[in-house]
Amino acid sequence: MPEIGRATRRPLVAANWKMNRGAPQEARELAAAVRRELELRGLDPGRAGRPEVVLCPPFTGLAAAGEALARSGLALGAQDVDPRPAGAFTGAISAGMLRGAGADWVIVGHSERRLIYGEDDATVQRKLAVALEAGLRPILCVGETAEERDAGRTEAVVARQLAAALAGLGAGALERVVVAYEPVWAIGTGRAAQPADAGEVAARIRQLAARWLGAEEEASQLRVLYGGSVKAANAAGFLGHPEIDGALVGGASLEAAEFAAIVAAAAARGG
Ligand code: PEP
Repeated sequence: MPEIGRATRRPLVAANWKMNRGAPQEARELAAAVRRELELRGLDPGRAGRPEVVLCPPFTGLAAAGEALARSGLALGAQDVDPRPAGAFTGAISAGMLRGAGADWVIVGHSERRLIYGEDDATVQRKLAVALEAGLRPILCVGETAEERDAGRTEAVVARQLAAALAGLGAGALERVVVAYEPVWAIGTGRAAQPADAGEVAARIRQLAARWLGAEEEASQLRVLYGGSVKAANAAGFLGHPEIDGALVGGASLEAAEFAAIVAAAAARGG
C-alpha cells in the first residue's frame, strides 16, 4: 500500500446504540450528551483535523437525535436498511426513508443481523448497493465467529464476506464505504481482539479490495475500523495501530463521557 494511505485516512468513530436508546426523548438526550462531551474536549467533528463521529440510534430515534446534532458536525446513521426500495414489506425501512429521516450513514451486515436474523452475504450485498444508490454511506461489518477463528478460518471468512459485499461495485465506491472488522466473539463480550491481530486483518481487507477492484490507490484510502468490546481503557491500542482507522462501538457508546474518551483516542492517532 502506498505510504500516503494512512496519513490521509480520516479517523472515524461510530456508535451503535443497538435496541437500547431509541425512544425519541432518550435518543435526543444521549445525542445531546455526546455532543456536549465532545465540545467540552474540543473534539467537535466540525473542526478541521478532528475524527469523524457517527451516531446510530434505532430508527425511532433518528429524527430526535438528528435535532440534537443540528449544526454540530456529528453525523447520523441507521443500524440497518431493507434491500428493497419500496413496497409491501411490513415493518421494513428503505434507504430513501433513512435519508428522509436525516441519516447519512448506515450499518450493513452487522453480525447480529447476519446471525440472529439470518442475513446472508447476498442480502448484505443488496443492502450495500441500495444504500449507495440512495446516497447513504455504508459501514460494512465483517468478522468471524469463535468457531471459525479456532478453525483458522478468519481470513477466509472475512474475504468471503468482503468479496460478496463488494461484488459489482467500481473502485469509486471505496471512497464511500467504510469497513468494520468485528470478530463476532469480541462483540459485547468484554473480550476484545489483540490490536496487532485486528490490524493484520485490516491490512488484508485493504489488499483484497485493491486486488478485486483493481484499485490500489482507492483501496489505500479505504477506511477500516475495529469493533468488539472497545472502551476508553483499550481504545488507544486499536486506534494507535497504523492499519486501524477508527472504531465501531456498541456498549461503550451508551455513556457519553466513555464514548468521548474513545473519540479522544482517535484524535490522538492523527490522520
Ligand atoms: C457492535 O455491536 O458493533 C460492537 C462493537 O459492540 P460492543 O462494542 O458492545 O462489543
